[in-house]
Amino acid sequence: MMKHAFSGIHDLNAEAGLLLRGALDVLDEAIIVADQAGRIVAWNKTAARLVGLPVDASPEVWNEAFGIFLPDERTPCPTESVPLWRALQGDRVDDVELYVKNPRTPQGIHVLVSARPILGEQGRVRGGVVIFQDATVTRLAQAALNHAEARLRAIVINTPNIAIEGYDAQGRVLYWNRAAERLFGWSEDEVVGKTLDGMMLDTPSTQKFVETLEEIARTGRPNGPNEWSCRRKDGSEVWVYSTIFAIPTIAGACEFVCMDVDVTPLKLAEDRIREQAKRMEAQAIDNANLFQEALQAISARDDFLAVASHELRTPLTPLKLQLERLVRDARAGASQERMAPALEVAHRQAGRLAALIDRLLDVSRITAGKLDLSLDEVDLCALVQDVVTRFGREAEEAGCPISFHHDKPLWGTWDRLRLEQVVTNLLGNAIKYGRGKPIELELEADDGTARLTVRDQGVGIAPEDQGKIFERFERAVSNQSFGGLGLGLWIVRQIVETHGGTVRVESTPGVGSTFCVELPRWRMPLDESHGTISIPPGT
Ligand code: ADP
Repeated sequence: MMKHAFSGIHDLNAEAGLLLRGALDVLDEAIIVADQAGRIVAWNKTAARLVGLPVDASPEVWNEAFGIFLPDERTPCPTESVPLWRALQGDRVDDVELYVKNPRTPQGIHVLVSARPILGEQGRVRGGVVIFQDATVTRLAQAALNHAEARLRAIVINTPNIAIEGYDAQGRVLYWNRAAERLFGWSEDEVVGKTLDGMMLDTPSTQKFVETLEEIARTGRPNGPNEWSCRRKDGSEVWVYSTIFAIPTIAGACEFVCMDVDVTPLKLAEDRIREQAKRMEAQAIDNANLFQEALQAISARDDFLAVASHELRTPLTPLKLQLERLVRDARAGASQERMAPALEVAHRQAGRLAALIDRLLDVSRITAGKLDLSLDEVDLCALVQDVVTRFGREAEEAGCPISFHHDKPLWGTWDRLRLEQVVTNLLGNAIKYGRGKPIELELEADDGTARLTVRDQGVGIAPEDQGKIFERFERAVSNQSFGGLGLGLWIVRQIVETHGGTVRVESTPGVGSTFCVELPRWRMPLDESHGTISIPPGT
């Protein structure tokens, strides 16, 4: 038996030997040295404390002699795995955990062992050294670490309603809790090691996700909560509120934790509410517009009633006066010659009244959609000429010479009376708004279209009014300067459009106005049984 630890160090001088021995004895690591034959020749105090040295046994039975077991504390360590034995074979052993329990250390101890061969001349193994330390603390720390990790993992895995996922810097999934499995439909096994591209996210969104991870790594600031739209495994859309943050890894890189809360129901409700709000807003605007239109219609109707009663009264007053005069004359036995002028005036005013009433009736007829055309073969040239002739006296009184030169008939299928009304209204307006100035009428035609132009040199119409004068009750002049119902042009437009044609105006205030009506010439009769209308020769 050796009396002192390291009593085998002979070649140092005594003082150095003592110092070296002392130094080894104060180490926390246990050291045992064996010679080439496997004799334990030196050990320090820590070794003696940990494994109960000295032991005198051949290397083949060290496992039994020292009571060396594998970390499971039951399986004896095979001889060829005993670190010092391996060092004698020339092997280096690093950080192997073993368990030692023998009658000298009955409580048993886990040790972390390294061993090295000691080489002599020409690299021959002269012996071996084993260094080991109590692994209890490390084991406890490891156990605590394992426990903490298991606890954390259990929390992560079982957290309900919050999907928790781990990602590496490339956006590959590291882990995926059950809530994530439930929310997205993919199991952890299906996604670990993969990016979300083509699964939960499309390529641009995946790119954005990876950029987000890069930004978090760069700034160190968490991202979110932000709204992300993802696809479930079944293809349906899911909206999540995501918070992503980074955790540094031991290697100095980053891994990322993403926590998602499902906000799809909220999002759908929000969309519904937004849509409803939009609908309500549109409805409110509609209602406001309708209300505005109703107010305008009421005010237009009031204006119309005021103007209409004034217009009806205008011919009525002279009519009444003439009739009173006629009654007086008749009672006095006046001659026919004396009564004739009054009768003529009365007749003219009665005609004016009838025309006004017709116009009012037209409005209600057109508004009720009852403008039926009675189509016929009509010579527009003759029709215009008739109207011009009818206006002869009125035009003369107004100082408006009318020029109309068109000698060829211009046939088409139209409603004769309605077209008379169109020409009458346009010519009547030209006289009314162009007093003292000449008026020109023109007719042009090609195979399909007839065009009537009425040009005056009257007051003209401001550009901003030109669009609205074809609307009902719209007027571009004051009631004081010109009487009228604001219906003539509206009726013109209705008749022309019912014929499939158009009417437009070009006008310069103070210079004059030109109204242009275009009418398709040939139309199928409304009732097919009449057959097609033939084009008269010589049109
Ligand atoms: P009314 O003449 O009874 O007012 P119309 O519907 O015929 O109604 O015309 C609408 C408005 O268009 C007129 O009030 C007038 O301001 C303008 N207008 C129509 N014809 C002419 C014209 N030849 N020259 C200038 N203004 C015209």
